[in-house]
Amino acid sequence: MLRVSGLGRSYRAPGFRQRRAPVVRAVEWVDLEVRGGQTLALVGESGAGKSTTLREIASLAAPQAGRVEILGRDTALLSRRAARELRTAVQLVPQDPASSLDPRMPVGDIVAEPLHAARVPPAIVAARVPRLLSQVGLRPTDADGYPHHFSGGQRQRIAIARALAVGPALLLLDEPVSALDVSVQAGILDLLLRLKRELGPAYLLVSHDLAVVRQLADRVSVMYAGRTVETGGVAEVFERPHHPYTRALLSAVPLPDPVAERSRRRIVLPGDPGAAPPTASGCGFRARCPVQAVLSAAQRRRCAEETPHRRAAGPAAGHTVSCHFPHDSRLAHDTRLAHDSRLPDDEGPGPVRSACVISSNHHSHRWTRPCLRAADGYRDRNRSTTVHPTRDH
Ligand code: SF4
Repeated sequence: MLRVSGLGRSYRAPGFRQRRAPVVRAVEWVDLEVRGGQTLALVGESGAGKSTTLREIASLAAPQAGRVEILGRDTALLSRRAARELRTAVQLVPQDPASSLDPRMPVGDIVAEPLHAARVPPAIVAARVPRLLSQVGLRPTDADGYPHHFSGGQRQRIAIARALAVGPALLLLDEPVSALDVSVQAGILDLLLRLKRELGPAYLLVSHDLAVVRQLADRVSVMYAGRTVETGGVAEVFERPHHPYTRALLSAVPLPDPVAERSRRRIVLPGDPGAAPPTASGCGFRARCPVQAVLSAAQRRRCAEETPHRRAAGPAAGHTVSCHFPHDSRLAHDTRLAHDSRLPDDEGPGPVRSACVISSNHHSHRWTRPCLRAADGYRDRNRSTTVHPTRDH
């Protein structure tokens, strides 16, 4: 349905004379794939490049860097006619329907607009508009109203009806519920799930709300500073995140179990995502990466000099990660220790453990208090005498 590889987009920062304006690399390298009938969610902090990626795909133009293929057709090679045909297959549902719907047009005309653009005969348009409004939970008579007559949730339903008008194969959902009240969000999410079941379009969903992602998506692609850092099935990535950034992101999700929720500790990353612009080489996350504290000097140098590329994250098909030292059973140094508050502070030396990144580079040691404290602050204060345990594995 949709395949994006190596997508890049940069632009000159506004507010400067054009030639002096610094170059902002909004998207560095994005790989993603949406299969027919599936939902892929793009997640990450603000400024990660999610919306820019969506706009690049929606433009159906040649990307500045990389390749975008929709329904097997390379957007860089489309004729005007082919681009017009493809436009009916890809529709965008914007974040804020209040600003995307023309306040001077009746709802019926708004929904009919893409049908007119696709040169659908007027008789078919007249029959299809009331049906579309019913499909999204509005009344056919709402076609005579204007956008300001409707609530936020109803306006989002109008925007969805408009996007569905030409029978798209792929819907691009840009934070579809973030502008709505929590009580209204559930109704829109149910609607999107029902429409997918009944009509079968694929969704590319941009969201910063991981609860929405869990409810709506089949697969998830995590972005940091314009790069894809981890991709896989939602259950696999949420249960076994491998990239340190994904682990930090997921540590912010409240747990439904009150006991587990009480012992949950958030991984708070140092710094601000915008403060460390992506560099030409090396890992763009290294300034904030908690794993750096337990790596050897040679390993840290590798993170600084070599850009991590996508590789299989484990046995699960399609789970990939872009990190030189992803979390797995071999690397039990583990930021998870930092949020395991059940470990008693006065616990004595335990049995000798192995399979730790530190032990592989330094010694094999006992699990001791200084090590736990070091992990708690993401600092290895006593690297020569401690090692992180593998209790969770
Ligand atoms: S490549 Fe290195 S700095 Fe980047 S996320 Fe992995 S461990 Fe951290």
